[in-house]
Amino acid sequence: MSEITIEFFGVRGSIPAPMGGSREKDKHNHLGREFDRQKSESPSLTWDEFLTSREQHEYFTYGGNTSCVFIRCGGHNIICDMGSGIRELGQRLIPIAIKDRGIKLWVLVSHTHWDHIQGFPFFAPAYINQETGVRNEIVAFGGTNWTKDVEYCLKNQMDNRAVFPVDFEELRTTLAKLEGNSVHNMKSIDGIEGIKIRTLKLDHPQETYGYRIEHEGKTIVYATDNEPRDPRRPHPNLLALSKKADILVIDCQYTYEMYHGIINGQITDFTKYGWGHSYPEAVAQTAHDAEVKTVVLFHHDPTSSDEAIKKMEETTQRLIKDLGGKSKVVAASEGMTLSV
Ligand SMILES: [Zn+2]
Ligand SMILES: [Zn+2]
Repeated sequence: MSEITIEFFGVRGSIPAPMGGSREKDKHNHLGREFDRQKSESPSLTWDEFLTSREQHEYFTYGGNTSCVFIRCGGHNIICDMGSGIRELGQRLIPIAIKDRGIKLWVLVSHTHWDHIQGFPFFAPAYINQETGVRNEIVAFGGTNWTKDVEYCLKNQMDNRAVFPVDFEELRTTLAKLEGNSVHNMKSIDGIEGIKIRTLKLDHPQETYGYRIEHEGKTIVYATDNEPRDPRRPHPNLLALSKKADILVIDCQYTYEMYHGIINGQITDFTKYGWGHSYPEAVAQTAHDAEVKTVVLFHHDPTSSDEAIKKMEETTQRLIKDLGGKSKVVAASEGMTLSV
């Protein structure tokens, strides 16, 4: 049986949120001071020993790029969403495309909010001209009417009269194949040999789909940008998609307090009702009810620090345990790879 692997290239929602120089410096300074303090008590302590004793989020960042994950399954390359993380994925794929004289990519688009498509103009494999003998193919899926919605948005963010130097239409001749396909509720995506992909509509201000990818008895679900109307009752579509998944990648943008606009214990006007995103209480219920093995918190809020994301991971894990569930929780980070 072959493995399915999933690698995370963009894990934020809404807008890219790189950590920035001063906060990186703060992290290094904090660690340096703590190391000095401990070393004064235990002079034989090495830097490596010290680092392994620390929580991971103290010395790394979950990442600042918007949604993009790369799935390798049955010899196929599947990309979920084209947020700014797809730029680095493109760099990774270029040497493979050149060596193999072309690469075929299946792209599943959840929806066309900007954080899910904004990386595509910077996706290098789309720019290798097929006349060089490297024949790259992109076959994409998303939206009920591909031409009117998904392609419309992709074209408009690559309009060379206004916003980008290269026009979307040029890619039609550069690429050996550029194909868009519509999805809708319960559509099965055919053509990816040996892999079953089903789509279901999620609850979001724009038409948004989750994707369930099955191969040789293993299942990965990509379900981002979904709002729970009642955290105790997951949306039936989300439940159906997630049922007994080995890995569920799920929107967990907010904390309970952020969602309800609670600041310093006070309810304020800064609620996130209707914004289309989820929080640990709802994610825990879904993971429990769907009997998911590993739940990956995804689409982190741009304002969430690494410490805040780590805390959401711990909160969600505790909530699942309280419900009697067994799902393991991990917060998505750039570069993280999971396999089943
Ligand atoms: Zn989003
Ligand atoms: Zn969205």
